[in-house]
Amino acid sequence: MCCALSPRLRTMTPPIHDLAVVGAGIVGLAVAREWMSRRPADSVAVLEREAEAACHQTGHNSGVVHGGIYYQPGSLKARLCVEGARSMYEYCEHHSIRHERCGKLIVAVSSDELGRLDDLEARGIANAVPGLRRIRADEITEIEPNAAGLQALHAPNTGIVDYPAVARTLVGELTARGVDVRFGTAVDAIDAASPPVVHTAAGPVWAHTVIACAGLWADRLARRAGAARDPQIVPFRGGYLGLTRTRQPRLNGMIYPVPDPELPFLGVHITKHVTGDVTLGPTAMMVAARDAYSLRRFSWRDSWETLSWPGTWRVGRRYWRVGLGEIRMAASRRAFVAAAARYMPSLSLDDLDGTSHAGVRAQAVGRDGALVDDFVISRDGAVAHVRNAPSPAATSAFALARELVDRVTGTP
Ligand SMILES: Cc1cc2nc3c(=O)[nH]c(=O)nc-3n(C[C@H](O)[C@H](O)[C@H](O)COP(=O)(O)OP(=O)(O)OC[C@H]3O[C@@H](n4cnc5c(N)ncnc54)[C@H](O)[C@@H]3O)c2cc1C
Repeated sequence: MCCALSPRLRTMTPPIHDLAVVGAGIVGLAVAREWMSRRPADSVAVLEREAEAACHQTGHNSGVVHGGIYYQPGSLKARLCVEGARSMYEYCEHHSIRHERCGKLIVAVSSDELGRLDDLEARGIANAVPGLRRIRADEITEIEPNAAGLQALHAPNTGIVDYPAVARTLVGELTARGVDVRFGTAVDAIDAASPPVVHTAAGPVWAHTVIACAGLWADRLARRAGAARDPQIVPFRGGYLGLTRTRQPRLNGMIYPVPDPELPFLGVHITKHVTGDVTLGPTAMMVAARDAYSLRRFSWRDSWETLSWPGTWRVGRRYWRVGLGEIRMAASRRAFVAAAARYMPSLSLDDLDGTSHAGVRAQAVGRDGALVDDFVISRDGAVAHVRNAPSPAATSAFALARELVDRVTGTP
């Protein structure tokens, strides 16, 4: 608790919660759990606009438990991904949630990618990624018989998990501990008063501490609470294509390309899922709506916010070539398959099973056109906002929750 209200006032109706969390994605739910594990007697509410948990990024991602290779040493992502992966596996083991440490390869297919593979290896070592190893061409095919490349990084601790199942389990756990998880409750604004007030269509909710984990709408909520517009969320759609099932498994784990170091996206990869399905993707295309699960989805408001943001135009000027490539992949399955055939040469259009789906990334873009890479948390008194929690925030959710609760409670 952070403000000095008398015990009498605390027991008056309407109740003042100790904590209100906005958003029942994996980050918001993990925050509520972390709080309850430290202060089991506290009153906590989770306010979610949708009718269930994990309706946005948490339920529309690659399902990968990342190892922590890519991230700038010393960054929040580097620390929280490695810690978070450990916690995610423990949570899944404890609650019997489907997961598998199937490992992943990052494959260099041309000599100019070898230097970038060196940089990734150095980052992975600095970030203490468990079991990370540089391997030769013949070792690539030992691990993944259908892959081909010059050299690769093998991360055996990278895995796959059912994130919506993690979110559902968290909801069950929170409800059982007395947390008031309210679905269908859209938060219109947060007033950072003392105590803070969370305004919803169903009326105000008071809480001594508010933590907003609103994903694709994080900037909007932060702005309404008086925070700066910078950075703004720009939606990037990630499309996936399904591959047919084969008698011999097409792959044992995951295969990734060497990513463009300028971009926060990892490139089109081939991923197996806990269901046994295998997908190609995701692409990374700027779109006209924050919920553009269909390419036809358009929102005037989202488009206006994206187009009126100077950072968007700077991103466009800097990465227009990359953007054209993404549009090409969205328009042509042949181009999409070709991206993955670079490291799995046997792959062809005939391997597609005709299914597709998509997720939308909440990517914070700075006024200067920077694609903000690290997690960003802002705070105004007793109100904290998660302003940027892109991949690997699902992997990192439990560690990110510890970080958030440490920051708002002032504990190390
Ligand atoms: C295509 C794609 C692939 C990815 N792959 C991976 C991966 O393999 N591994 C990984 O670790 N990460 C991955 N990520 C990233 C990961 O999914 C996200 O970082 C993570 O899910 C973020 O969780 P969150 O709780 O912050 O956001 P979300 O899951 O988006 O949840 C935010 C919640 O807030 C709610 N909300 C928003 N505004 C309001 C409001 N005003 N009132 C009430 N509720 C509100 C929303 O309805 C939503 O439920 C991927 C993301 C995408 C899009």
